[in-house]
Amino acid sequence: MRVVFRPGASVTATAGEVERLGLRRVLVVSGARGADTARAVADSLGDLCAGVHAEARMHVPAEVADRAVQVARERGADGCVAVGGGSAIGLGKAIALRTGLPLIAVPSTYSGSEATPVWGLTEHGAKRTGRDPSVLPRSVVYDPELTLSLPVPLSVTSGVNAVAHAVEALYAPDTSPLIALMAEEGVRAMTSALPEIAAEPTDPEVRSRALYGAWLCGSCLGATTMGLHHKLCHVLGGTFGLPHAETHTVVLPYALAFNAPAAPAAVRALNRALGTDDAPHALWTLAGDLGAPRSLAGLGLARPDLKAAAELVAQQAYANPRPVTAEDALTVLEAAYVGSAPRVAATSSPS
Ligand code: NAD
Repeated sequence: MRVVFRPGASVTATAGEVERLGLRRVLVVSGARGADTARAVADSLGDLCAGVHAEARMHVPAEVADRAVQVARERGADGCVAVGGGSAIGLGKAIALRTGLPLIAVPSTYSGSEATPVWGLTEHGAKRTGRDPSVLPRSVVYDPELTLSLPVPLSVTSGVNAVAHAVEALYAPDTSPLIALMAEEGVRAMTSALPEIAAEPTDPEVRSRALYGAWLCGSCLGATTMGLHHKLCHVLGGTFGLPHAETHTVVLPYALAFNAPAAPAAVRALNRALGTDDAPHALWTLAGDLGAPRSLAGLGLARPDLKAAAELVAQQAYANPRPVTAEDALTVLEAAYVGSAPRVAATSSPS
């Protein structure tokens, strides 16, 4: 993967990346709210652009992917440029997965999807994910200027979403010293940037530091196997329709508090990055102080759904430093539902 990283790159460097790949007719995809930005990128591509398709939606519903594939084929596209957050990049990945067309990502949030070969599709109320090298963007164009408009609440939750990738990479079964280095630095960069973004959202330097953190954290996600935290968020988003970044922000302190007793090296790295001796509490405090939602109740989840979500999580096989029963998953979810301060416990009770 090539990475271009400089202010203005979305409109000054994307055409060069398209040409470098030998492409002549790329479809630009985005969400409806990102359509203006996508059009600016499309304009910079001139004749290399086969059109703009601004229909990305969160969690890539299968019918949205079907329609985008059809548009790519109708327009004779030979590649795809995804402009926007994880939803737009997810749609670009769906096109790449189904057609084999190369993907270029121009990210405008901190989701980190641009750095991974992970795709996701939602169908019949369930989200499926998988890994396929064909969906890994060939080029990523980071333009801090694109993120100046990212509202502070979204910046905070998207930033914590990135941090969650690094947290789980640190205790993943396939972690490594290189991943540990990147994860710790990613958490340090992102968590130091977020309060500064809240204070001065249009500061390009701090926005650059957040994108730097997003790449580090996203690369950790791409290189390792995620655990309980991602599984919980995947079920809450895919089956119960909760918003992605906000859900990650609410759940992370509790999932980490649950796993902490079984992941001492990961916790030490996180404590160093956060300048604390209680990483779950520090993450909870950071997000809450910056105005992020703190409880699943606040995100609109109904209490009776907790049990169903816990059972869905327990039914799936995934790597985690601690075994997770349905009762454990429910305990974590109940703590996240209420949103009070997380407490690390050596037993299966995280709250
Ligand atoms: P998103 O892409 O849905 O964006 C959230 C909102 O922010 C949208 O309304 C969007 O229009 C708006 N927005 C985006 N950039 C903006 C900007 N610069 N200024 C103003 N508004 C802006 O949300 P997300 O959190 O970036 O991505 C979530 C999706 O990405 C989920 O579907 C998730 O599963 C997926 N994801 C995938 C991976 C992966 O590796 N496959 C990793 C992380 C997230």
